Amino acid sequence: MSEKITMGSDGQLSVPNNTIIPFIIGDGIGPDIWHAAVRVFDAAIETAYGRQRSITWKEVLAGEKAFNQTGNWLPEETLEVFRSYLVGIKGPLTTPIGEGIRSLNVALRKELDLYVCLRPTKWYEGVPSPVKSPENVNMVVFRENTEDIYAGIEFAAGTDNAKRIQQFLEQELDVAYNFSNTTGIGIKLVSEEGSKRLMRSAIAYAIAHDLPSVTVVHKGNIMKYTEGAFKNWGFEVAETEFGHLTYTWGQWERTRAEKGQEAANTAQKEAEEQGKIIVKDMIADNFLQQILLAPKDFSVIATLNLNGDYISDALAAMVGGIGIAPGANINYKTGHAIFEATHGTAPRFANTNTMNPSSVILSGVMMLEYMGWQEAADVIVNALSQTIKDKTVTVDFYNLMDDAILLKTSEFADKIIEKF
Ligand code: NAD
Repeated sequence: MSEKITMGSDGQLSVPNNTIIPFIIGDGIGPDIWHAAVRVFDAAIETAYGRQRSITWKEVLAGEKAFNQTGNWLPEETLEVFRSYLVGIKGPLTTPIGEGIRSLNVALRKELDLYVCLRPTKWYEGVPSPVKSPENVNMVVFRENTEDIYAGIEFAAGTDNAKRIQQFLEQELDVAYNFSNTTGIGIKLVSEEGSKRLMRSAIAYAIAHDLPSVTVVHKGNIMKYTEGAFKNWGFEVAETEFGHLTYTWGQWERTRAEKGQEAANTAQKEAEEQGKIIVKDMIADNFLQQILLAPKDFSVIATLNLNGDYISDALAAMVGGIGIAPGANINYKTGHAIFEATHGTAPRFANTNTMNPSSVILSGVMMLEYMGWQEAADVIVNALSQTIKDKTVTVDFYNLMDDAILLKTSEFADKIIEKF
């Protein structure tokens, strides 16, 4: 009998051998890539565990399909299923225009308080890349998913509310700024709890995966009480909660101030030799050039919502673009997690059976890893890597490779499964 994943009182997921996983098929190219991906998942689980383990897939509705069947873009029942089953996966969804919901993805993240947006970026041999050495890119981005300017508190220029806020700032807070009626206003929100739980997850991930560093990426030089505070709270978590396993650049600064630069460098070197995780920080604009110039210097990245949005796409491009980049939205406390293709619905290509299913397949790999089914995840990664190396690929890669063989979405899945 199939059962739900649950969260134990010890904070560990309990994953039954026969697990029910809810999925949203997605709009546009969603059905094509999902049908290919689910065959890969089932075959990999069978290869890894025989009949010992399996997934029963439970479809839930969202997006256009939900709207056409129920008149609702995101039915309450779907939210209830994700709440109850903890772990799920989704294809891309159309963003409804002028329907009161900004974005279905944002709504799902908010509803389940999925505070980490996790985006690993790794190059697979043979994937066409615009950079010279894409093999040097191997980073995992932890993007804060619930706060920042993305909280959606905005007031349009010229509205009463925008005027009232301007007046409040001028009259009550003595803000000297040359406001005008043509100024729109957005509010940037960054909390201590929000920053710390994100950083906690990033450091825990680095520890669990034996990774050398966590880099906090921010614009704290300009936005001191939001992005600057994010960095400070991040360092605080590292020092107070993971002090025996980390060495922060905050510690380096303090040692330099007290004992000079050489002593600080020695302390950092010692920490590295002891296998401690180096917790550093970098201003976001510099970071965006450093990932191109010295990508080997970075491993786990912890950053705010807006920075994370830019950074994950820039990194995805370096390793071959959005057709292959996976992602997840996770609340490590409750265990809730939704794994998702990071690209959109590419509506022009709907039902053409031509698009690359790798993003949703690799999101499934992340899901299997999250469930602790590492063997099945490894089976998929090995076969997918080999399929790309063999230059048997979908049109997006085919167009950029020499001597490649063009496959349909479903044929690409067949090629992967053949290698199990
Ligand atoms: P998109 O990602 O859907 O497509 C942009 C282009 O990227 C496509 O034309 C195609 O050339 C390429 N592409 C995308 N997925 C691919 C794949 N699997 N294989 C090969 N090539 C692929 O972006 P868009 O056109 O800006 O957005 C279309 C719709 O998707 C909008 O409604 C948007 O709101 C929505 N969207 C949803 C998500 C999500 O659900 N996570 C994310 C982004 C956009």
